[in-house]
Amino acid sequence: MMGTAVYLHIPFCQAKCFYCDFLSFVRTESSITPQRYLQGLKQELALRGAELKSAGWEVATLYIGGGTPTVLELTELRELLTCCRRYLPLASAPEWTVEANPCTITPEVVKLLSAAGVNRLSLGVQDLCNRRLAGLGRLHTAEQAREAYLLCRDYFPAVALDLMTALPGQTTAQLLETLAVVCDWGPQHLSLYGLIVEEGTALAAQVEAGQVQLPDEDEVLAMFLAGRRYLQARGYEHYEIANYALPGYRCRHNLTYWQNRPYLGLGLGAHSYWHGVRWENTRDPQTYLAQLAAGQLPLAVQTVVTPEMAMEDTMILGLRLVHGVSFAEFKKRFGQDLRQVFQQEIKSLQKLGLIECDEHYLRLSAKGLPLANLVFAEFLR
Ligand code: SF4
Repeated sequence: MMGTAVYLHIPFCQAKCFYCDFLSFVRTESSITPQRYLQGLKQELALRGAELKSAGWEVATLYIGGGTPTVLELTELRELLTCCRRYLPLASAPEWTVEANPCTITPEVVKLLSAAGVNRLSLGVQDLCNRRLAGLGRLHTAEQAREAYLLCRDYFPAVALDLMTALPGQTTAQLLETLAVVCDWGPQHLSLYGLIVEEGTALAAQVEAGQVQLPDEDEVLAMFLAGRRYLQARGYEHYEIANYALPGYRCRHNLTYWQNRPYLGLGLGAHSYWHGVRWENTRDPQTYLAQLAAGQLPLAVQTVVTPEMAMEDTMILGLRLVHGVSFAEFKKRFGQDLRQVFQQEIKSLQKLGLIECDEHYLRLSAKGLPLANLVFAEFLR
């Protein structure tokens, strides 16, 4: 049996964070109720599950993200987890992740998730400064994040914490204080995402109005480098630009994306890459429900991926991994030597000191890691 990755999108949150441009709605204000949405998702699960089974695939990793999946009521969450088991051909020991926010973690929720087989809980902590958390529109405090973490630690073999850097008013010293506290908690996995001001968000309006001050480029770079040094010293392997794990705890689901391997995304606006085609589900809730009610998959945009596009994607995604892109795997997959296909790009990036290679891999250099977007742009033809 071949193993693949499946993502389920739950587009509901308790409130909209000021920096967020993900496809998510405030649960109480949404034009679609979670009950109706889950009805559609259940139909999509049944269709895709049957397809996977008949093609001989099993689900090696399942990721329920959002949004905030744990904003669902217990009965809704139970129904969702039951449907995953009922319709998807789960492998015998799948990596099964659910995303959560600290305010939504209760003993009942963690018991339910753990009993269903969820073995990885990804918790959005973001920061431990209550003033900055409030400034981001987060609903929880640092103390609630700690309590949620401690509860999760008792129920899941792996807990992954998301933290943010480059926040308004944040300094490198403050980031290191946060990392010191969080490392003492002992999570198996940590992600450090630099804040991006996305167009159309409340944060973008605040920046525009001069109400918040973002750290300058030098400070952002210093945070990346100091954070990396600190986490490595605490035993975390830096394996992807923004991701760190204790040995044996890398996120297998996300590795599928970075290795440019096939995956299926289910739910509103979810993305898939399957049999050489990339597609996005519709982002409109009513269309999503109507198409599924008619027995159709809710596809919106589809792109056939040519071998050239697949090679570019493999470089751009694979260079996110700290160990880089394997020459042997590239050759096996495309029948070509990546050093020849991207000869020009490699030459100019090496001259700038942004990439390096050894006998087996091409990777971002220490200088290139924080400047990855410049490198990726070079590989986009
Ligand atoms: S909890 Fe996550 S998905 Fe929801 S609004 Fe905040 S950042 Fe966006």
